[in-house]
Amino acid sequence: MKMKIITLATPAEYDHTEITFEVDGRIGGSGFIGKGKDQRLGLIKCPVCQKENYAVSVSSGVCVFCDFNANAGE
Ligand SMILES: [Zn+2]
Repeated sequence: MKMKIITLATPAEYDHTEITFEVDGRIGGSGFIGKGKDQRLGLIKCPVCQKENYAVSVSSGVCVFCDFNANAGE
């Protein structure tokens, strides 16, 4: 599986940058990357199984349903 993170235009006052993913050439899913010191990645909607991640698993960057790991990209 080839995965790329695509950053989206996000208002400057936000404390995070919104992102989407490209997995094997297909764009989908959603998440965010924290700005400043807090650069952790959150996975909100999985680009592989298209499901909304459980809230408690968002900050791990890993999909609770299919184990897709958003931290494994470039
Ligand atoms: Zn998934």
